[in-house]
Amino acid sequence: MAQGYQIACVVCSRPAAAPASAGTCAACADDSATLELHFDLKLASRTLTRTALAARPRNHWRYLELLPVRPDAQAMQWPVGFTPIVEAPRLAEWAGVRRLRLKDEGRNPTASFKDRASSVGVVHARQAGATRIACASTGNAASSLAGYAAMAGLPATIFVPARAPLPKVTQLCVYGADVRRVRGSYAEAYALCSSACEREGWYNRNCAINPYLVEGKKTCGLEIAEQTGDDPPDWVAVSVGDGCTVAGIGKGLMEMTALGFLAAPPRLLAVQPAAVAPIAHAWQHGALPDPRLLGTTFADSIDVAVPRNWRKAIDRVRACDGAFLCVTDAEIEQALLACARLSGVFAEPAAAAALAGVRRAVAEGRLTARSDVLVVITGSGLKDVQSAARLVSPPTDVDPITGDAIANASHATPERELQ
Ligand SMILES: *Cc1c(COP(=O)(O)O)cnc(C)c1O
Ligand SMILES: [Zn+2]
Repeated sequence: MAQGYQIACVVCSRPAAAPASAGTCAACADDSATLELHFDLKLASRTLTRTALAARPRNHWRYLELLPVRPDAQAMQWPVGFTPIVEAPRLAEWAGVRRLRLKDEGRNPTASFKDRASSVGVVHARQAGATRIACASTGNAASSLAGYAAMAGLPATIFVPARAPLPKVTQLCVYGADVRRVRGSYAEAYALCSSACEREGWYNRNCAINPYLVEGKKTCGLEIAEQTGDDPPDWVAVSVGDGCTVAGIGKGLMEMTALGFLAAPPRLLAVQPAAVAPIAHAWQHGALPDPRLLGTTFADSIDVAVPRNWRKAIDRVRACDGAFLCVTDAEIEQALLACARLSGVFAEPAAAAALAGVRRAVAEGRLTARSDVLVVITGSGLKDVQSAARLVSPPTDVDPITGDAIANASHATPERELQ
């Protein structure tokens, strides 16, 4: 399939040469002047039709015309994407909207949305002749990259901040990556990774400044358009850390609109944690806040004080007439429990944040009882069982013969009621 795309700067729009992996605009000489791929949608529309799609494999490689990789028979067997969309009527009632659907990204092979970007990154790296791939991540991008590097047999070096939850770090080590746990923040892990890539010539998978990776993230938007068909949601709610996820999903929705799969793109509801919401701040005030003034959140995947992709995120949310809003950790906890109990989907805190945002948007009058919303559940709850365990009471210990309950001191803490 033809690779019909051009690369341009998101700030000055000047065309840019294709970087090997990460890269920003040479003319702007500014870290936030990231690059973006523009596909020839006319060319893509010749082969990317509903009829053609019906016969293709149920993974995200079905959109190859819109991905920056060449066909690779082995990689295209990797199961990634085409996650289910589930109807959640009781959750709709809890949130206060007419209809609520969940796109369950926890069903990807390494249990998060990041598999979309990692799979594209690993194939792109392999086709570029890379001998090692690296990234810095709060957790999911790392474990996902380690998983796909293992599938491809490509060595991976991964930098994680000291706070990354144990299940994610364990996943990395089990997949066999070279793991560097940085005794510092995500921002510090990110800086170390960037300089190592430059020094060693490794393929840099950091999504924010690697323009190819966002193309993997956009497949979630392509799928939402294809899977919801004639009945797309009014809003798509997504939680935001670096901003790549919401920007990618927005790009996918817009390309599908241009290709005629949607009449108009749904509006994006971009949700940040209240204590660390730099992009929501920039949305309102036009510039990022001083990171030293920000707090932290237990939703580790979106605990990002120095976001790298805020420009794309803001542009995309604006282009679809969307909105940014913030939710507290307490609201995220409630949403995590509600999601599990009212729909059967166990979400990690960062994923539950998007759902919390829907309820908050109703309270603020941005959404109404007539709204039709799709929430992207970006990662599985099994990624961070410790946070979830704090919200529930432990099981009742019983005697093995009589089945009678045995007093357990920890039961003193009553279980949190669903509010
Ligand atoms: C990475 C991630 C996000 C946010 O994505 P960004 O591109 O950093 O905005 C949200 N939820 C989960 C589970 C993630 O892993
Ligand atoms: Zn530029």
